[in-house]
Amino acid sequence: MQALKDRLARITDLNHAAAILEWDQETYMPEGAEISRARQVATLRSFAHELLVDEQTTTLLESAKPESEIDQDLIRITKKDLVKATKVPSSLIARMAEASGRSKSAWQKARHTGNFDTFAPHLEKIVDLTIEHAEALGYKDSPYDALLDQYEEGMTTAQVAEVFGRLRDNLVPIVQKIATFPAISDQVLRGYFPEETQWSFGLDAVQQLGYDLHCGRQDRSTHPFSTAFSITDVRITTRTDPHFFSPGFFGSLHEAGHAMYEQGIDLALEGTPLADGTSLGIHESQSRLWENLIGRSLPFWKHYFPIAQKQFPDALKGVDLNTFYRAANTVAPSLIRVEADEVTYNLHIMLRFELEQEMIAGTIRIKDLPEAWNDRMESWLGIRPTNYSEGVLQDIHWSLGAIGYFPTYALGNLMSTQLFDAAKKAIPDLDELTAKGEFSELLSWLRKNVHQYGRRRSSDEILRGATGSGLSEDSWLKYVDAKFGEVYGF
Ligand code: ZN
Repeated sequence: MQALKDRLARITDLNHAAAILEWDQETYMPEGAEISRARQVATLRSFAHELLVDEQTTTLLESAKPESEIDQDLIRITKKDLVKATKVPSSLIARMAEASGRSKSAWQKARHTGNFDTFAPHLEKIVDLTIEHAEALGYKDSPYDALLDQYEEGMTTAQVAEVFGRLRDNLVPIVQKIATFPAISDQVLRGYFPEETQWSFGLDAVQQLGYDLHCGRQDRSTHPFSTAFSITDVRITTRTDPHFFSPGFFGSLHEAGHAMYEQGIDLALEGTPLADGTSLGIHESQSRLWENLIGRSLPFWKHYFPIAQKQFPDALKGVDLNTFYRAANTVAPSLIRVEADEVTYNLHIMLRFELEQEMIAGTIRIKDLPEAWNDRMESWLGIRPTNYSEGVLQDIHWSLGAIGYFPTYALGNLMSTQLFDAAKKAIPDLDELTAKGEFSELLSWLRKNVHQYGRRRSSDEILRGATGSGLSEDSWLKYVDAKFGEVYGF
Protein backbone atom coordinates (compact mmCIF):
# COMPACT_ATOMS: atom_id res chain seq x y z
CA MET A 1 0.00 0.00 0.00
CA GLN A 2 2.81 2.39 0.89
CA ALA A 3 4.68 1.59 -2.33
CA LEU A 4 1.49 2.32 -4.28
CA LYS A 5 1.02 5.61 -2.44
CA ASP A 6 4.64 6.62 -3.11
CA ARG A 7 4.16 5.93 -6.77
CA LEU A 8 0.89 7.86 -6.96
CA ALA A 9 2.51 10.77 -5.09
CA ARG A 10 5.24 10.93 -7.75
CA ILE A 11 2.61 10.96 -10.51
CA THR A 12 0.66 13.66 -8.68
CA ASP A 13 3.83 15.74 -8.19
CA LEU A 14 4.67 15.58 -11.89
CA ASN A 15 1.16 16.69 -12.83
CA HIS A 16 1.22 19.51 -10.31
CA ALA A 17 4.64 20.66 -11.53
CA ALA A 18 3.13 20.82 -15.04
CA ALA A 19 0.22 22.81 -13.62
CA ILE A 20 2.61 25.35 -12.07
CA LEU A 21 4.26 25.81 -15.47
CA GLU A 22 0.79 26.29 -17.01
CA TRP A 23 -0.16 28.81 -14.32
CA ASP A 24 3.06 30.71 -14.98
CA GLN A 25 2.30 30.65 -18.71
CA GLU A 26 -0.99 32.47 -18.11
CA THR A 27 0.37 34.97 -15.58
CA TYR A 28 4.07 35.90 -15.81
CA MET A 29 5.76 34.01 -18.64
CA PRO A 30 7.20 36.18 -21.43
CA GLU A 31 5.43 35.55 -24.74
CA GLY A 32 8.61 34.38 -26.42
CA ALA A 33 8.77 31.28 -24.20
CA GLU A 34 5.61 29.73 -25.67
CA ILE A 35 7.29 26.90 -27.60
CA SER A 36 9.77 25.83 -24.93
CA ARG A 37 7.04 25.97 -22.29
CA ALA A 38 4.71 23.74 -24.33
CA ARG A 39 7.53 21.19 -24.57
CA GLN A 40 8.30 21.36 -20.84
CA VAL A 41 4.66 20.80 -19.91
CA ALA A 42 4.37 17.91 -22.37
CA THR A 43 7.53 16.33 -20.91
CA LEU A 44 6.17 16.36 -17.36
CA ARG A 45 2.72 15.16 -18.41
CA SER A 46 4.13 12.30 -20.44
CA PHE A 47 6.34 11.19 -17.51
CA ALA A 48 3.25 11.17 -15.31
CA HIS A 49 1.31 9.19 -17.92
CA GLU A 50 4.14 6.65 -18.36
CA LEU A 51 4.40 6.10 -14.60
CA LEU A 52 0.65 5.52 -14.39
CA VAL A 53 0.33 3.07 -17.28
CA ASP A 54 3.54 1.21 -16.35
CA GLU A 55 3.04 -2.45 -15.41
CA GLN A 56 4.43 -1.72 -11.96
CA THR A 57 1.34 0.38 -11.14
CA THR A 58 -0.97 -2.53 -12.03
CA THR A 59 1.14 -4.93 -9.95
CA LEU A 60 0.96 -2.60 -6.95
CA LEU A 61 -2.78 -2.06 -7.41
CA GLU A 62 -3.34 -5.82 -7.41
CA SER A 63 -1.13 -6.57 -4.40
CA ALA A 64 -1.77 -3.55 -2.17
CA LYS A 65 -3.60 -4.30 1.10
CA PRO A 66 -5.88 -1.37 1.96
CA GLU A 67 -5.70 -0.35 5.61
CA SER A 68 -8.46 2.23 5.59
CA GLU A 69 -11.51 3.38 3.63
CA ILE A 70 -9.36 6.05 2.00
CA ASP A 71 -6.99 3.30 0.83
CA GLN A 72 -9.92 1.39 -0.62
CA ASP A 73 -11.13 4.48 -2.48
CA LEU A 74 -7.61 5.20 -3.68
CA ILE A 75 -7.32 1.74 -5.21
CA ARG A 76 -10.82 1.89 -6.72
CA ILE A 77 -10.37 5.32 -8.33
CA THR A 78 -6.81 4.68 -9.50
CA LYS A 79 -7.95 1.47 -11.20
CA LYS A 80 -10.59 3.49 -13.05
CA ASP A 81 -8.06 6.17 -14.03
CA LEU A 82 -5.69 3.49 -15.25
CA VAL A 83 -8.34 1.79 -17.39
CA LYS A 84 -9.20 5.15 -18.95
CA ALA A 85 -5.53 6.01 -19.50
CA THR A 86 -4.79 2.72 -21.24
CA LYS A 87 -7.91 2.60 -23.40
CA VAL A 88 -6.77 5.45 -25.62
CA PRO A 89 -3.76 4.59 -27.81
CA SER A 90 -0.90 7.08 -27.46
CA SER A 91 -0.87 7.52 -31.25
CA LEU A 92 -4.44 8.87 -31.03
CA ILE A 93 -3.47 11.21 -28.18
CA ALA A 94 -0.59 12.52 -30.28
CA ARG A 95 -2.83 13.04 -33.33
CA MET A 96 -5.38 14.84 -31.18
CA ALA A 97 -2.73 17.12 -29.67
CA GLU A 98 -1.40 17.97 -33.11
CA ALA A 99 -4.85 18.60 -34.60
CA SER A 100 -5.95 20.76 -31.71
CA GLY A 101 -2.76 22.83 -31.94
CA ARG A 102 -3.49 23.63 -35.60
CA SER A 103 -7.18 23.99 -35.02
CA LYS A 104 -6.66 26.46 -32.17
CA SER A 105 -4.67 28.85 -34.35
CA ALA A 106 -7.18 28.43 -37.20
CA TRP A 107 -9.97 29.22 -34.73
CA GLN A 108 -8.18 32.32 -33.46
CA LYS A 109 -7.87 33.65 -37.03
CA ALA A 110 -11.43 32.67 -37.96
CA ARG A 111 -12.85 34.33 -34.86
CA HIS A 112 -10.95 37.48 -35.76
CA THR A 113 -12.23 37.58 -39.34
CA GLY A 114 -15.63 35.99 -38.75
CA ASN A 115 -14.96 33.57 -41.60
CA PHE A 116 -16.20 30.13 -40.50
CA ASP A 117 -15.09 28.42 -43.74
CA THR A 118 -11.42 28.66 -42.79
CA PHE A 119 -12.10 26.90 -39.48
CA ALA A 120 -14.58 24.29 -40.79
CA PRO A 121 -12.02 21.73 -42.10
CA HIS A 122 -10.22 21.85 -38.74
CA LEU A 123 -13.43 21.33 -36.84
CA GLU A 124 -14.32 18.40 -39.12
CA LYS A 125 -10.98 16.82 -38.26
CA ILE A 126 -11.53 17.46 -34.53
CA VAL A 127 -14.98 15.87 -34.68
CA ASP A 128 -13.60 12.79 -36.48
CA LEU A 129 -10.85 12.39 -33.87
CA THR A 130 -13.32 12.97 -31.05
CA ILE A 131 -15.53 10.18 -32.36
CA GLU A 132 -12.46 7.93 -32.56
CA HIS A 133 -11.64 8.95 -28.99
CA ALA A 134 -15.18 8.11 -27.82
CA GLU A 135 -14.97 4.72 -29.53
CA ALA A 136 -11.67 4.03 -27.76
CA LEU A 137 -13.10 5.03 -24.38
CA GLY A 138 -16.22 2.93 -24.92
CA TYR A 139 -19.84 3.68 -24.01
CA LYS A 140 -23.19 2.07 -23.49
CA ASP A 141 -25.71 4.07 -25.54
CA SER A 142 -24.08 6.85 -27.52
CA PRO A 143 -20.52 8.05 -28.22
CA TYR A 144 -21.45 11.33 -26.52
CA ASP A 145 -21.75 9.40 -23.23
CA ALA A 146 -18.04 8.67 -23.34
CA LEU A 147 -17.24 12.35 -23.95
CA LEU A 148 -19.49 13.63 -21.16
CA ASP A 149 -18.07 11.03 -18.79
CA GLN A 150 -14.60 12.59 -19.09
CA TYR A 151 -15.86 15.72 -17.35
CA GLU A 152 -18.91 14.52 -15.43
CA GLU A 153 -18.21 10.94 -14.51
CA GLY A 154 -21.25 8.69 -14.35
CA MET A 155 -23.67 11.15 -15.95
CA THR A 156 -25.33 9.97 -19.17
CA THR A 157 -26.38 11.94 -22.22
CA ALA A 158 -29.98 10.73 -21.82
CA GLN A 159 -30.07 11.93 -18.21
CA VAL A 160 -28.70 15.36 -19.08
CA ALA A 161 -30.98 15.68 -22.13
CA GLU A 162 -34.03 14.93 -20.00
CA VAL A 163 -33.15 17.52 -17.35
CA PHE A 164 -32.10 20.12 -19.93
CA GLY A 165 -35.30 19.52 -21.95
CA ARG A 166 -37.49 20.36 -18.98
CA LEU A 167 -35.23 23.23 -18.04
CA ARG A 168 -35.50 24.78 -21.50
CA ASP A 169 -39.28 24.35 -21.69
CA ASN A 170 -39.63 26.26 -18.43
CA LEU A 171 -36.86 28.77 -18.95
CA VAL A 172 -37.70 30.13 -22.40
CA PRO A 173 -41.07 31.51 -21.16
CA ILE A 174 -39.36 33.12 -18.14
CA VAL A 175 -36.85 34.86 -20.42
CA GLN A 176 -39.69 35.97 -22.71
CA LYS A 177 -41.66 37.26 -19.73
CA ILE A 178 -38.70 39.29 -18.41
CA ALA A 179 -38.28 40.80 -21.90
CA THR A 180 -41.77 42.32 -21.62
CA PHE A 181 -40.74 44.32 -18.51
CA PRO A 182 -38.85 47.63 -18.71
CA ALA A 183 -35.11 47.00 -18.93
CA ILE A 184 -33.12 47.63 -15.73
CA SER A 185 -30.12 49.89 -16.17
CA ASP A 186 -26.71 48.68 -15.00
CA GLN A 187 -25.22 52.14 -15.50
CA VAL A 188 -24.16 52.42 -11.84
CA LEU A 189 -21.74 49.52 -12.39
CA ARG A 190 -20.22 51.26 -15.39
CA GLY A 191 -18.73 54.36 -13.77
CA TYR A 192 -15.06 54.74 -12.94
CA PHE A 193 -13.80 51.97 -10.62
CA PRO A 194 -10.00 52.34 -10.10
CA GLU A 195 -8.36 48.98 -10.77
CA GLU A 196 -6.17 48.98 -7.66
CA THR A 197 -9.22 49.53 -5.46
CA GLN A 198 -11.14 46.82 -7.31
CA TRP A 199 -8.22 44.49 -6.69
CA SER A 200 -8.11 45.07 -2.93
CA PHE A 201 -11.90 45.20 -2.55
CA GLY A 202 -12.25 41.85 -4.33
CA LEU A 203 -9.38 40.26 -2.45
CA ASP A 204 -10.79 41.40 0.92
CA ALA A 205 -14.19 39.98 -0.03
CA VAL A 206 -12.92 36.53 -1.08
CA GLN A 207 -10.89 36.28 2.13
CA GLN A 208 -14.01 37.17 4.08
CA LEU A 209 -15.84 34.34 2.28
CA GLY A 210 -13.15 31.95 3.44
CA TYR A 211 -10.52 31.79 0.69
CA ASP A 212 -7.28 31.24 2.60
CA LEU A 213 -4.38 33.34 1.30
CA HIS A 214 -1.97 31.44 3.54
CA CYS A 215 -2.55 28.58 1.09
CA GLY A 216 -3.40 30.62 -1.99
CA ARG A 217 -2.80 33.83 -3.91
CA GLN A 218 -4.38 36.02 -6.56
CA ASP A 219 -2.69 37.21 -9.76
CA ARG A 220 -3.80 38.81 -13.02
CA SER A 221 -4.48 36.94 -16.26
CA THR A 222 -6.40 37.55 -19.50
CA HIS A 223 -8.87 34.76 -18.72
CA PRO A 224 -9.57 34.27 -15.01
CA PHE A 225 -9.07 30.73 -13.67
CA SER A 226 -8.23 28.80 -10.54
CA THR A 227 -5.65 26.05 -10.25
CA ALA A 228 -4.31 23.79 -7.52
CA PHE A 229 -0.80 22.45 -6.97
CA SER A 230 -1.73 20.82 -3.66
CA ILE A 231 -4.48 21.27 -1.07
CA THR A 232 -2.24 23.90 0.50
CA ASP A 233 -1.56 25.85 -2.70
CA VAL A 234 -4.70 26.78 -4.60
CA ARG A 235 -4.46 29.95 -6.69
CA ILE A 236 -6.85 32.24 -8.48
CA THR A 237 -6.48 34.88 -11.16
CA THR A 238 -8.65 37.83 -12.05
CA ARG A 239 -8.87 40.71 -14.50
CA THR A 240 -10.33 44.16 -13.94
CA ASP A 241 -11.96 46.74 -16.19
CA PRO A 242 -11.78 50.29 -14.79
CA HIS A 243 -15.11 51.14 -16.40
CA PHE A 244 -17.12 48.07 -15.38
CA PHE A 245 -17.30 46.72 -11.84
CA SER A 246 -18.83 43.31 -12.55
CA PRO A 247 -16.24 41.20 -14.42
CA GLY A 248 -13.50 41.76 -11.84
CA PHE A 249 -15.54 41.41 -8.68
CA PHE A 250 -17.90 38.59 -9.63
CA GLY A 251 -15.06 36.87 -11.46
CA SER A 252 -13.01 36.87 -8.25
CA LEU A 253 -15.91 35.42 -6.25
CA HIS A 254 -16.35 32.74 -8.93
CA GLU A 255 -12.72 31.65 -8.96
CA ALA A 256 -12.53 31.81 -5.16
CA GLY A 257 -15.52 29.44 -5.09
CA HIS A 258 -13.54 26.93 -7.16
CA ALA A 259 -10.48 27.47 -5.00
CA MET A 260 -12.28 27.09 -1.65
CA TYR A 261 -13.55 23.70 -2.88
CA GLU A 262 -9.98 22.47 -3.39
CA GLN A 263 -8.72 24.09 -0.19
CA GLY A 264 -11.44 22.20 1.67
CA ILE A 265 -10.40 18.71 0.58
CA ASP A 266 -9.45 16.41 3.47
CA LEU A 267 -5.69 16.80 4.06
CA ALA A 268 -5.44 13.03 4.43
CA LEU A 269 -5.88 12.90 0.63
CA GLU A 270 -2.88 15.14 -0.07
CA GLY A 271 -0.49 13.79 -2.68
CA THR A 272 -3.02 11.30 -4.04
CA PRO A 273 -5.23 11.44 -7.14
CA LEU A 274 -8.21 11.73 -4.77
CA ALA A 275 -7.25 15.32 -3.88
CA ASP A 276 -9.14 16.90 -6.75
CA GLY A 277 -12.67 18.05 -7.57
CA THR A 278 -14.93 15.09 -8.23
CA SER A 279 -16.45 16.51 -11.42
CA LEU A 280 -16.61 19.76 -13.34
CA GLY A 281 -20.31 20.06 -12.48
CA ILE A 282 -19.69 19.93 -8.74
CA HIS A 283 -16.75 22.29 -9.22
CA GLU A 284 -18.93 24.79 -11.05
CA SER A 285 -21.65 24.43 -8.39
CA GLN A 286 -19.17 25.83 -5.88
CA SER A 287 -18.09 28.78 -8.02
CA ARG A 288 -21.66 29.64 -8.95
CA LEU A 289 -22.89 29.35 -5.38
CA TRP A 290 -20.47 32.01 -4.16
CA GLU A 291 -20.67 34.17 -7.28
CA ASN A 292 -24.45 34.19 -7.74
CA LEU A 293 -26.37 32.77 -4.79
CA ILE A 294 -24.27 34.70 -2.28
CA GLY A 295 -22.47 37.39 -4.33
CA ARG A 296 -25.50 38.63 -6.27
CA SER A 297 -27.92 38.39 -3.36
CA LEU A 298 -29.55 41.26 -1.49
CA PRO A 299 -28.29 40.14 1.95
CA PHE A 300 -24.71 40.12 0.64
CA TRP A 301 -24.99 43.69 -0.60
CA LYS A 302 -26.68 44.84 2.60
CA HIS A 303 -23.28 44.19 4.13
CA TYR A 304 -20.98 45.09 1.24
CA PHE A 305 -22.70 48.04 -0.41
CA PRO A 306 -21.81 50.58 2.32
CA ILE A 307 -18.19 49.37 2.15
CA ALA A 308 -18.20 49.59 -1.66
CA GLN A 309 -19.62 53.10 -1.46
CA LYS A 310 -16.77 54.21 0.77
CA GLN A 311 -14.16 52.63 -1.49
CA PHE A 312 -15.64 53.85 -4.78
CA PRO A 313 -17.00 57.26 -3.80
CA ASP A 314 -16.94 58.65 -7.36
CA ALA A 315 -18.88 55.84 -8.99
CA LEU A 316 -21.33 55.11 -6.18
CA LYS A 317 -22.05 58.53 -4.66
CA GLY A 318 -25.79 59.02 -4.25
CA VAL A 319 -26.58 55.45 -5.43
CA ASP A 320 -28.90 53.44 -3.18
CA LEU A 321 -28.62 49.76 -2.29
CA ASN A 322 -31.63 48.69 -4.29
CA THR A 323 -30.47 50.39 -7.49
CA PHE A 324 -27.08 48.73 -7.11
CA TYR A 325 -28.60 45.30 -6.37
CA ARG A 326 -30.91 45.50 -9.37
CA ALA A 327 -28.04 46.64 -11.62
CA ALA A 328 -26.06 43.55 -10.55
CA ASN A 329 -29.03 41.39 -11.55
CA THR A 330 -30.14 42.69 -14.93
CA VAL A 331 -31.39 40.06 -17.36
CA ALA A 332 -31.13 40.62 -21.09
CA PRO A 333 -30.62 38.10 -23.91
CA SER A 334 -27.11 38.55 -25.26
CA LEU A 335 -24.97 36.84 -27.87
CA ILE A 336 -21.82 36.05 -25.88
CA ARG A 337 -21.94 33.21 -23.35
CA VAL A 338 -19.26 34.53 -21.01
CA GLU A 339 -21.13 37.83 -20.69
CA ALA A 340 -24.55 36.22 -20.19
CA ASP A 341 -26.60 36.87 -17.05
CA GLU A 342 -27.61 34.24 -14.53
CA VAL A 343 -30.99 33.56 -16.18
CA THR A 344 -30.09 33.29 -19.86
CA TYR A 345 -26.72 31.57 -19.34
CA ASN A 346 -28.12 28.05 -19.32
CA LEU A 347 -29.74 28.57 -22.72
CA HIS A 348 -26.31 29.29 -24.20
CA ILE A 349 -25.15 25.97 -22.78
CA MET A 350 -28.13 23.93 -23.96
CA LEU A 351 -27.63 25.23 -27.48
CA ARG A 352 -24.06 23.96 -27.46
CA PHE A 353 -25.09 20.64 -25.90
CA GLU A 354 -27.59 20.00 -28.71
CA LEU A 355 -25.20 20.97 -31.49
CA GLU A 356 -22.40 18.86 -30.00
CA GLN A 357 -24.60 15.81 -29.94
CA GLU A 358 -25.64 16.42 -33.55
CA MET A 359 -22.02 16.85 -34.64
CA ILE A 360 -21.00 13.59 -32.97
CA ALA A 361 -24.05 11.72 -34.27
CA GLY A 362 -23.35 13.10 -37.76
CA THR A 363 -26.88 14.49 -38.06
CA ILE A 364 -25.59 17.98 -38.83
CA ARG A 365 -22.98 18.91 -41.42
CA ILE A 366 -20.20 21.12 -40.09
CA LYS A 367 -20.84 23.67 -42.84
CA ASP A 368 -24.44 24.02 -41.63
CA LEU A 369 -23.38 24.65 -38.03
CA PRO A 370 -23.20 28.49 -38.09
CA GLU A 371 -26.75 28.97 -39.33
CA ALA A 372 -28.12 26.21 -37.08
CA TRP A 373 -26.51 28.10 -34.20
CA ASN A 374 -28.07 31.40 -35.26
CA ASP A 375 -31.51 29.83 -35.80
CA ARG A 376 -31.53 28.38 -32.30
CA MET A 377 -30.30 31.61 -30.73
CA GLU A 378 -33.15 33.38 -32.41
CA SER A 379 -35.82 30.91 -31.35
CA TRP A 380 -34.63 30.58 -27.73
CA LEU A 381 -33.24 34.01 -26.92
CA GLY A 382 -34.96 36.14 -29.54
CA ILE A 383 -31.71 37.56 -30.92
CA ARG A 384 -29.64 36.61 -33.94
CA PRO A 385 -25.89 37.13 -34.35
CA THR A 386 -24.99 39.33 -37.32
CA ASN A 387 -21.56 37.70 -37.68
CA TYR A 388 -20.13 34.28 -36.83
CA SER A 389 -17.56 35.70 -34.39
CA GLU A 390 -20.49 36.51 -32.12
CA GLY A 391 -22.03 33.13 -32.89
CA VAL A 392 -20.51 29.74 -33.54
CA LEU A 393 -16.91 31.03 -33.40
CA GLN A 394 -17.03 32.65 -29.95
CA ASP A 395 -15.73 29.80 -27.73
CA ILE A 396 -12.31 28.14 -27.75
CA HIS A 397 -13.56 24.72 -26.52
CA TRP A 398 -14.34 22.95 -29.81
CA SER A 399 -11.07 24.04 -31.38
CA LEU A 400 -9.26 22.26 -28.53
CA GLY A 401 -11.35 19.12 -28.89
CA ALA A 402 -13.19 19.71 -25.61
CA ILE A 403 -16.55 18.34 -26.75
CA GLY A 404 -18.78 17.21 -23.87
CA TYR A 405 -17.44 19.93 -21.56
CA PHE A 406 -20.10 22.64 -21.99
CA PRO A 407 -22.97 20.81 -20.23
CA THR A 408 -21.03 20.85 -16.96
CA TYR A 409 -21.47 24.65 -16.73
CA ALA A 410 -25.26 24.31 -16.64
CA LEU A 411 -25.10 21.21 -14.45
CA GLY A 412 -23.11 23.30 -11.99
CA ASN A 413 -25.79 25.98 -11.97
CA LEU A 414 -28.49 23.41 -11.22
CA MET A 415 -26.43 21.72 -8.52
CA SER A 416 -25.57 25.07 -6.92
CA THR A 417 -29.18 25.85 -5.95
CA GLN A 418 -29.84 22.24 -4.89
CA LEU A 419 -26.90 22.43 -2.49
CA PHE A 420 -27.81 25.95 -1.40
CA ASP A 421 -31.37 24.88 -0.52
CA ALA A 422 -29.98 22.12 1.68
CA ALA A 423 -27.51 24.52 3.30
CA LYS A 424 -30.34 26.96 4.06
CA LYS A 425 -32.31 24.19 5.74
CA ALA A 426 -29.32 23.37 7.92
CA ILE A 427 -28.57 27.05 8.63
CA PRO A 428 -31.95 28.78 9.08
CA ASP A 429 -30.40 32.23 9.68
CA LEU A 430 -28.15 32.06 6.61
CA ASP A 431 -29.54 35.30 5.15
CA GLU A 432 -28.98 37.17 8.43
CA LEU A 433 -25.42 35.85 8.66
CA THR A 434 -24.76 36.86 5.03
CA ALA A 435 -26.10 40.35 5.75
CA LYS A 436 -23.51 40.58 8.55
CA GLY A 437 -20.70 39.41 6.27
CA GLU A 438 -20.40 36.11 8.14
CA PHE A 439 -19.84 33.10 5.90
CA SER A 440 -18.07 30.58 8.10
CA GLU A 441 -21.16 28.47 8.79
CA LEU A 442 -21.96 28.14 5.11
CA LEU A 443 -18.35 27.29 4.30
CA SER A 444 -18.28 24.67 7.08
CA TRP A 445 -21.46 23.11 5.70
CA LEU A 446 -19.91 22.94 2.22
CA ARG A 447 -16.66 21.55 3.64
CA LYS A 448 -18.55 18.83 5.45
CA ASN A 449 -20.99 17.91 2.68
CA VAL A 450 -19.00 18.55 -0.50
CA HIS A 451 -15.36 19.63 -0.24
CA GLN A 452 -13.77 17.15 2.13
CA TYR A 453 -14.46 14.11 -0.07
CA GLY A 454 -12.38 15.17 -3.06
CA ARG A 455 -12.90 12.39 -5.61
CA ARG A 456 -13.93 9.82 -3.00
CA ARG A 457 -17.59 10.45 -3.80
CA SER A 458 -19.12 10.89 -7.26
CA SER A 459 -21.16 13.98 -8.08
CA ASP A 460 -24.37 11.96 -7.73
CA GLU A 461 -23.30 10.63 -4.31
CA ILE A 462 -22.43 14.13 -3.14
CA LEU A 463 -25.76 15.53 -4.30
CA ARG A 464 -27.77 12.72 -2.74
CA GLY A 465 -25.75 12.81 0.47
CA ALA A 466 -26.12 16.56 0.86
CA THR A 467 -29.62 17.16 -0.47
CA GLY A 468 -31.40 13.80 -0.37
CA SER A 469 -31.99 13.74 -4.14
CA GLY A 470 -30.21 13.51 -7.47
CA LEU A 471 -29.82 16.10 -10.21
CA SER A 472 -32.94 18.14 -10.90
CA GLU A 473 -33.86 21.45 -12.56
CA ASP A 474 -36.65 22.21 -10.04
CA SER A 475 -34.65 24.04 -7.43
CA TRP A 476 -32.89 26.31 -9.94
CA LEU A 477 -36.15 27.20 -11.70
CA LYS A 478 -37.80 28.05 -8.37
CA TYR A 479 -34.83 30.19 -7.42
CA VAL A 480 -34.88 32.09 -10.73
CA ASP A 481 -38.63 32.60 -10.58
CA ALA A 482 -38.53 33.91 -7.02
CA LYS A 483 -35.46 36.11 -7.34
CA PHE A 484 -36.13 37.65 -10.72
CA GLY A 485 -39.86 37.82 -10.13
CA GLU A 486 -38.97 40.15 -7.28
CA VAL A 487 -36.30 42.08 -9.20
CA TYR A 488 -38.59 42.62 -12.20
CA GLY A 489 -41.85 42.74 -10.29
CA PHE A 490 -43.83 39.81 -11.67
ZN1 ZN B 1 -15.99 28.12 -13.27
